[in-house]
Amino acid sequence: VLIAGNWKMFKTPSETAEFCAALRDREAELEDTDVVVCPPYTSLHHAVSVLAGTSIAVFGQSVHWASEGPYTGEVSATMLGELGVTGAIVAHSERRQLFAETDETAALRVEGALDGGLSVIACVGETESEREAGETDAVLRRQVEALRVVVDEDHLDRLALAYEPVWAIGTGRTALPDDAGLIAGLIREQLRETLNTEMGEQVRILYGGSVNPGNIKDFMAKTNIDGALVGGASLDPDQFAAIVRYRI
Ligand code: PEP
Repeated sequence: VLIAGNWKMFKTPSETAEFCAALRDREAELEDTDVVVCPPYTSLHHAVSVLAGTSIAVFGQSVHWASEGPYTGEVSATMLGELGVTGAIVAHSERRQLFAETDETAALRVEGALDGGLSVIACVGETESEREAGETDAVLRRQVEALRVVVDEDHLDRLALAYEPVWAIGTGRTALPDDAGLIAGLIREQLRETLNTEMGEQVRILYGGSVNPGNIKDFMAKTNIDGALVGGASLDPDQFAAIVRYRI
C-alpha cells in the first residue's frame, strides 16, 4: 500500500519541518505502508533532513525530462535526486488544467524521471464535462496509453498511476468507491493488455480525490486500488497519519 500526501503550494520550509517532525514521531504507528510526502520545491530540503533515517519518502510535485537545460522554472530528476528526493508526482490535474501539461509532456516527464532513478506517481482522470459526456473510459484510455508507451519494463516497480477524477479534487466530492474500483480495474486491464499480465500487476494504482480518514477504508477495500494520493487532508499530521492507519 502506498499513501502519498500532495501538499500543493502549501507549507513554508519551517512549516514543513514542523509537520515532518510530527510525522516522524508517529512513524511506529504508520504500519507497513509506503508513506510519501510531496512538499513544494522550496521545502524539499527541510523534509528530507527531518525525515532522514525514517522510512517516509519525500517526492517532488513535478519534474522535467531533461537532466539540465534552458527550462526556466523547471527542475530535473538529477537535481531532486541529489537533494535526497526519491520520486515525483507527474501530470497532476492542476498541472494539466492550469499549466498546460499535456499527455505528451506528461509522458516525457515520466520517462525522464524513471530514467533518472526516481519513482513516479503519474496522474490520470476525467473532468466533470468529460464525465457528463460519457467520455471517462476513452479519456483514461488515452491518458494511460500515452504514459505506458514510454515506460521501460525494468522500471515498472517505480511507477504508480493515480486515478484522480478532476471533479473530486479539492471539492469534498468523492467518486463512489465502487466506481473508483471499477475504473482502477479498467486501468489494470489496460496495463495487462499492453504490458504482459504479470507486469500489469506491478504498477500500483492509487485513488485520489477528497480522501479523508472517514472514507479511505472504502477505497482501500477495492481489489485494484493499492493506495491513495491525498491533497487537503495530508496537510495535517493527525489526519494524514489517520489515513495511513486506515486499517485500525
Ligand atoms: C490531490 O491534490 O491530488 C487531491 C486528491 O486533492 P484532495 O485530496 O484535496 O481532493
